[in-house]
Amino acid sequence: MNMSMPKISNCEVTDCSYNSNKKCHAMAITIGDSSCAMCDTFARMNKKGGNPAIIAGVGACKSDNCKFNDALECTASNVIVGMHSNHADCKTFAAR
Ligand code: SF4
Ligand code: SF4
Repeated sequence: MNMSMPKISNCEVTDCSYNSNKKCHAMAITIGDSSCAMCDTFARMNKKGGNPAIIAGVGACKSDNCKFNDALECTASNVIVGMHSNHADCKTFAAR
């Protein structure tokens, strides 16, 4: 397994507290729930979060049905996050 943490190369969810200029500045995000590859770290709050000097990585992913998922970790080289049905999803998701 590739053990380096894949970065979020782009996130179009600009109303998330961790987003600025379409970059995610959390330390790491968690992706996935039982039904879709949702960004569980998404937060819509009245303050900015994260560190502008950091580009977030995927710390964990629960979307076991994605071909990039290995032992509930992401092995993609990087991922893109965007909107899907009013929530933030991993757009790099690819079904096995
Ligand atoms: S990847 Fe998730 S936590 Fe990061 S800016 Fe996008 S929606 Fe927010
Ligand atoms: S590419 Fe697949 S394994 Fe990686 S974060 Fe997205 S859904 Fe999870």
